[in-house]
Amino acid sequence: MAWDFSTDPEFQEQLDWVEEFCRAEIEPLDLVFPGAAYSRDPKAKALADPLKQQVKDRGLWALFLDKDLGGPGFGQLKLALLNEILGRYRSAPVIFGTAAPDTGNMEMLAAYGTEEQKRRWLYPLMNQEIFSAYSMTEPQGGSDPSLFQTRAARDGDRWVINGEKWFTSAGARADIIFVMCTNGMFVVPRDTPGVEVMEYPALHNHIRYTDVRIPLDHLLGPEDGAKVLAQRRLGGGRIHHAMRTVAQVKLAFDMMCERALSRESHGKTIADNLLVLEAIADSYAEINMLRLMVLWTAWTIDNSSTRVARTQIAACKYTCAKVLREVSYRALHIMGSLGTTNLTPLQAMWASAPTMAILDGVDEVHKVTVARNVLKDYEPHPGLWPSEYIPAKREQARKKYADLLAADPDLAAWADHAARATARGH
Ligand SMILES: Cc1cc2nc3c(=O)[nH]c(=O)nc-3n(C[C@H](O)[C@H](O)[C@H](O)COP(=O)(O)OP(=O)(O)OC[C@H]3O[C@@H](n4cnc5c(N)ncnc54)[C@H](O)[C@@H]3O)c2cc1C
Repeated sequence: MAWDFSTDPEFQEQLDWVEEFCRAEIEPLDLVFPGAAYSRDPKAKALADPLKQQVKDRGLWALFLDKDLGGPGFGQLKLALLNEILGRYRSAPVIFGTAAPDTGNMEMLAAYGTEEQKRRWLYPLMNQEIFSAYSMTEPQGGSDPSLFQTRAARDGDRWVINGEKWFTSAGARADIIFVMCTNGMFVVPRDTPGVEVMEYPALHNHIRYTDVRIPLDHLLGPEDGAKVLAQRRLGGGRIHHAMRTVAQVKLAFDMMCERALSRESHGKTIADNLLVLEAIADSYAEINMLRLMVLWTAWTIDNSSTRVARTQIAACKYTCAKVLREVSYRALHIMGSLGTTNLTPLQAMWASAPTMAILDGVDEVHKVTVARNVLKDYEPHPGLWPSEYIPAKREQARKKYADLLAADPDLAAWADHAARATARGH
């Protein structure tokens, strides 16, 4: 029997270890020294590096990468189960060597880099000796790549990049930036003259590239191949976001249920109100629908490719934003005034829902992709009536019984009566 929703016991042991490690080690670090896991400060590194070493010793470092690239080669399904835990803790992705935007950039390098490019950038990224960013979106438009203008011109033994990028996450602290140009994907060291990081936004940087000269071998993949590389990068990133969103909505759900049982109003617990029960029931169903869709998509990627699974990935992308919005809102609401403060994770989680609907491509674009791909499996029906028009189908079906209907008046009367009864229904 191929349908199976169980986790093999050996891997479950790993999941149990990860859960305990996150609860006992990562959560306290996040609460007392927020940001330490990402910091290059030696004191912060002294706190975070031993945790990273424990993850490495356990064979769980760089979870998303195949074995030949130094990862455990779990594949996407196991990664999804792990991300259901990691997504609950802010620093967990970096402690496990799976933090965006580096992960997507590493996937691009792994897939398209030459041996020399991998040696120069992939392995140092894997070891967090360097950090990266991804410059694709431009100020004049993000959803429509045909509006992008940044271009690299060849000048002797250099590429010369000119353009302007917007919302390059962590661009200001990156060592290298993957710059999507109209004629290819280029790796630009951030300290190259001509790279100018604007003052704001602070986290997702606005960057000007003016006569930025880089060696010819900083082109990644083929010339004019940027769109293919971008799809490869973003496809993986989207499903990883969806996996971590499952963790977030489960956290919101846990908080909602605990609070509903803990507090009283009008002589009964909050959970005794039918509308609160409805919020819990709807959330339970929506979380599990999202979770199963994410796991099914991860399984599809493992058994085919990101490209084959692109319709499913797009559906996960907008569904995770929707479920995050609905469930975090309900949880915040049931938490009452406390939910509106920053004293629990709920306010930040709810505020992140619109962001989730925009990053890695706006929901509308993904919905259009899904609908268009789905429609490719359909054709317009011929004639006036749809294929499921019952009288026409019945006429067709009667042909199968033509001999019987001709031979047996009782059965013929039954069939005629049934046909008239259906017609009288409207
Ligand atoms: C947290 C975060 C991190 C990000 N990190 C990066 C990064 O590291 N690197 C990077 O390059 N970019 C990054 N982005 C940018 C992201 O890729 C863009 O925001 C996204 O592609 C949308 O582009 P835009 O913001 O210009 O919105 P627009 O393209 O202007 O879209 C705005 C709105 O217009 C409507 N719309 C647009 N197109 C359509 C359509 N085809 N059909 C229907 N409605 C439409 C939608 O309502 C949409 O929300 C990040 C964004 C966020 C929020």
